[in-house]
Amino acid sequence: MQVPAPSRGSYHSMEDPATQSNYLQIATEHVALDWTLDFDSQLISGSATHHLLVKEDDVKEVIFDTSELDVSDAKVEGKSVSFDLKPKHEVMGSALHVCLPSGLKSGQYVDVTVEYKTTKDCTALQWLDKAQTQGKNFPFLFSQCQPIYARAIVPVQDSPSVKVKYSAKVTSVLPVLLSAIRQSPPSNGPAHDGKVIGKDLVTYTYNQPVPIPSYLIAIAAGNVRYRGFPQFEDKQWTSGIWAEPELIDRAYWEFSEDTAKFLAAEEKIVTPYKFGVYDLLMLPPSFPYGGMENACLTFLTPTLLAGDRSLVDVVVHELTHSWFGNGVTHAHASHFWLNEGWTTYIERVLLEVLYTPAHRDFSYIIGAKALKKSLTDFENEPKYQRLVIDFAPGEDPDNAFSSIPYEKGANLILHLERVLGGLEVFLPYVRNYVETFIGKNITTQEWKDHLYGYWAKHGGAEKIKALDSVDWNAWLSGEGLKLPVEMKYNLTLAQQAYALAAQWDAARSTADVSQLKFTPADLEGFNSNQIIVFLERLQSYAQLPLAHVRHLSALYGLGATPNAEIRFRFYEVALTDTGSESAKVFASEAVNWIVGEGGIEKGTDREGMVVGRMKFCRPVFRAVCQVDRELARKVWEGKKEAFHPVARRLIEKDLGLGH
Ligand SMILES: [Zn+2]
Repeated sequence: MQVPAPSRGSYHSMEDPATQSNYLQIATEHVALDWTLDFDSQLISGSATHHLLVKEDDVKEVIFDTSELDVSDAKVEGKSVSFDLKPKHEVMGSALHVCLPSGLKSGQYVDVTVEYKTTKDCTALQWLDKAQTQGKNFPFLFSQCQPIYARAIVPVQDSPSVKVKYSAKVTSVLPVLLSAIRQSPPSNGPAHDGKVIGKDLVTYTYNQPVPIPSYLIAIAAGNVRYRGFPQFEDKQWTSGIWAEPELIDRAYWEFSEDTAKFLAAEEKIVTPYKFGVYDLLMLPPSFPYGGMENACLTFLTPTLLAGDRSLVDVVVHELTHSWFGNGVTHAHASHFWLNEGWTTYIERVLLEVLYTPAHRDFSYIIGAKALKKSLTDFENEPKYQRLVIDFAPGEDPDNAFSSIPYEKGANLILHLERVLGGLEVFLPYVRNYVETFIGKNITTQEWKDHLYGYWAKHGGAEKIKALDSVDWNAWLSGEGLKLPVEMKYNLTLAQQAYALAAQWDAARSTADVSQLKFTPADLEGFNSNQIIVFLERLQSYAQLPLAHVRHLSALYGLGATPNAEIRFRFYEVALTDTGSESAKVFASEAVNWIVGEGGIEKGTDREGMVVGRMKFCRPVFRAVCQVDRELARKVWEGKKEAFHPVARRLIEKDLGLGH
């Protein structure tokens, strides 16, 4: 068996279909940002200076991506030059063409400065009102640039194929955080350099010395405080958490124990952490997502504050991106699975290292449900069921966003691990893969070529034969509702949860619940994922009678738990049949939980704290609307201002209030 020649399939494609920039002719190596934040008019104004490497002789212009930016000037080496902002492409935005001096030679550098400000239509920035924060005293700003929104805050060659270092100087009346290392004022010094928060201007300086893809450029600003986690003496990096003062104690408690420990464990599996700082930022309750792996600064939803450290595993996923995605980066959207598939695979290896092999497999079982749903959702667009998606130029990568790159990708790598001889044999390859490509960006074909190259050297014919047994076409380009291989997982942890659910299902015929033998001890020894699987399994049966749902809630404390993942699944059980008595009774409790007014929240620091993460608030509003439309709309009207604009738009659509 010999190494097959690389096939030039669609998954070889190098050119990024979602950018209009000419990054193959000339590319940014460093960008210096100089920004001022204006919370009154909700704009960023300033400049970006690109240090560009010429890659092609006589290149005439540099083309940047922009989206809804107001460009006032462009300079080459400090002198104003002519520029042209082209009409807007619906997905890719407006290409900004800046003229370059003639006679540039490959290998030369040129500095180009663009002066601009953002506009009201900026898709990357969310300016929260005071009411949308936990403290309710100051506004808050945060960005989301993945996949192609960096161009909405800075003119940039907005492709993961262009990795840039950056420095930034940002002036603001509120503390500023960036996806980089703080230079001044010090993170652990007095908040806002001891000046008056919300009033005095302070200039924050940051530096990102490691080249990163543009989608990891990130900013947040608000009334935030820092608390460092205990340091490992033998580590060069530091780790800590940022949050509003109202959340900092709980946030610190939740994450201080495990974050640095996880990062250190990951270093043993892969390679040393390269970014110097690994901080978490707890966003206000209206943050509509779970997490985002911005360099040096993972953004997190406060729904992870379970009060028992049970949801801290989400951090494992985000910090794993430091190697897969932030370190080894996909060349462009078609190869996005290299980021998420690898991250999900390694995240689960870490679960095996930290807990047991059964925990690792249990995560695949939970993921299988999400994968099935995504594959079904795309039944009419089978192209998005593929692992490697052949995007047309200008096609929106967000259209394809789903669990598929995560779950199908992780299963492909797990399958490779198994055919190549197991985890022990496989991990040295993983390290070699990271060492080979860290700091670079790659296509699926480059990944596969390296894979074959590595195993040809470490194992020879036998391993190549194993690799050739993989149905590559089915894994990379296959469509349909099934994985190419029926994957087997260790079911130990799932079976306990399934068994308990079956007992509850069987108990429905006993009308007097006081006769039932369930006790709080049933859940002893269950981790939160097992409780989730137990509740998801219960939903697969017919609606339990009201008395049983009440009993379930009272016995296991499900309607009062601060663990949002569990409480959400409990309401799904209570509202399984929206015409049932149970649904009528629990609809109000469920929707009041979402807006922070549930009985259990009263008088606690959770009072008024919305559950703005879309994973929870949208399905609850949808279900409650089916049970009692008036109730859903009334609660919504009273609280909608506290939700993020993206969530607001989608919930209004769900409630039939859209225009
Ligand atoms: Zn991810």
